[in-house]
Amino acid sequence: MRVRSPSASASPERATVVGSGPNGLAAAIALARAGLEVTVLEGEESPGGGCRSAELTLPGFVHDPCSTVHSLALASPFLSTLPLRRHGFEPVHPEAPLAHPLDDGTAVMLERSLELTARGLGRDESAWRRLFGPLVREAEPLFRELLGPLRVPRRPLLLARFGLSGLRSATGLARARFEGERARALLAGSFAHSMLSLTTVASAAPGLVLTASAHAVGWPVARGGSQRLADALVAELETLGGTLETERRVESLDELEPGLALLDVAPRQLLRLAGERLRGRYRRGLERYRPGPGIFKLDWALDGPIPWTASESARAGTVHLGGTFEEIAVSEHDVSCGLHPARPFVLLVQPTIFDPGRAPAGKHIAWAYCHVPNGSRVDMTAAIEAQVERFAPGFRDLIAARSAMDTAEVERRNPNYVGGDINGGLQDLRQLFARPVARPVPYSTPLPGVFLCSASTPPGGGVHGMCGYWAARAATPYPRAP
Ligand SMILES: Cc1cc2nc3c(=O)[nH]c(=O)nc-3n(C[C@H](O)[C@H](O)[C@H](O)COP(=O)(O)OP(=O)(O)OC[C@H]3O[C@@H](n4cnc5c(N)ncnc54)[C@H](O)[C@@H]3O)c2cc1C
Repeated sequence: MRVRSPSASASPERATVVGSGPNGLAAAIALARAGLEVTVLEGEESPGGGCRSAELTLPGFVHDPCSTVHSLALASPFLSTLPLRRHGFEPVHPEAPLAHPLDDGTAVMLERSLELTARGLGRDESAWRRLFGPLVREAEPLFRELLGPLRVPRRPLLLARFGLSGLRSATGLARARFEGERARALLAGSFAHSMLSLTTVASAAPGLVLTASAHAVGWPVARGGSQRLADALVAELETLGGTLETERRVESLDELEPGLALLDVAPRQLLRLAGERLRGRYRRGLERYRPGPGIFKLDWALDGPIPWTASESARAGTVHLGGTFEEIAVSEHDVSCGLHPARPFVLLVQPTIFDPGRAPAGKHIAWAYCHVPNGSRVDMTAAIEAQVERFAPGFRDLIAARSAMDTAEVERRNPNYVGGDINGGLQDLRQLFARPVARPVPYSTPLPGVFLCSASTPPGGGVHGMCGYWAARAATPYPRAP
């Protein structure tokens, strides 16, 4: 078979990026900044991948089908350097990043201020300060170390100090550092973002980073919807001379112009795009790459704000529903064993509390998802809504319309979310750094000039663009380190 290779030697001054998720766009911007002529090809009608908005329910209600909370965009050593506000991205902060309601009718609050948060935790006040104080004080260099591939650290002591806590299991860390139910419950929800059983080694790390980011940069949304962030990235790319073509689904590398190719795709798609030319160890590595659990997601149009029993929950952008640490740990463990929890841990976001323009006057939107086994077809609507009702009786009466996505629908909307996995692959210790295949430069492939730049490369899922940035660095002698 004769194949046209998009090799670097053919035309090193041109690059094609396949996929316009935050990583594809970050890669494209980094390449354009380095002076390359860049074209982004996106299969869908609009750019952004997991960073889009759409009227999923009723006219006038603007939902984010995927990401809404943009702490990682603010913490990103690359995205934070871009003039995105000039292009219309405006982060809007809720009064508090997170509320964690409990069955006693109160809520534990994660405030922007570390001090205020600590004071709400009773006997764990100083333990909170001890764990998060150093991480927040050194947040910027810490994010720089963590949001990238494994490399010689610039701040080895800082990284080692983080590792002492981050490499532990979430359960081990919570038990060792905190005595009370309230602090442990508050952490459980953030730990569960890892989508691992909370007893797994290193399951504490993502939750520590997220919690530190709440204090350091906040958990904002993009005013008007996440599409504004994607559109700002596209505008920045165009300012640098790059172009974007939508509704251009790429089926084979043969379709690409000569030059570099950076692929914002899942490993499974890389296999398909490359066909016969990928062989041997790398091919087997991609075939063995493991997806993480999936999600079942609901978006609601609501006739009013959610009537939380613990009224302080209305101050928060994100609300974690699942009660105690133990209950959340059981829910996540069930999912990791291929089961559907009866009372799932639910992540809920209520953007219109502080970004009212996304719904008609007096109306609201909210979304929530729970974790489910990869590829699950079970309808979790009733289980998710029961969890909301548990902490906000009367919630169901406010639902004017809902959109539901099981794992198949999540993947149909974005082929990168294999089996409903929104992180681009399981993020256990092995796959966090050696993703998708263990090699010195994880973004490179055995094909000359072809690089992977999606969340299936380090540092993994989230809207931070760092997979794209590091892939662009690997592909070019890009001079500026973030
Ligand atoms: C429900 C949900 C909630 C989330 N919440 C958050 C959150 O609040 N905060 C956060 O930071 N992260 C969140 N995430 C995760 C985040 O959205 C992803 O980790 C992130 O978008 C990954 O970026 P990416 O560029 O790697 O890929 P994606 O954003 O998945 O983009 C990939 C793009 O490539 C395109 N593409 C794929 N194959 C082809 C092809 N063959 N040809 C052309 N185009 C192609 C796709 O259409 C897509 O546009 C959430 C995700 C989901 C699904």
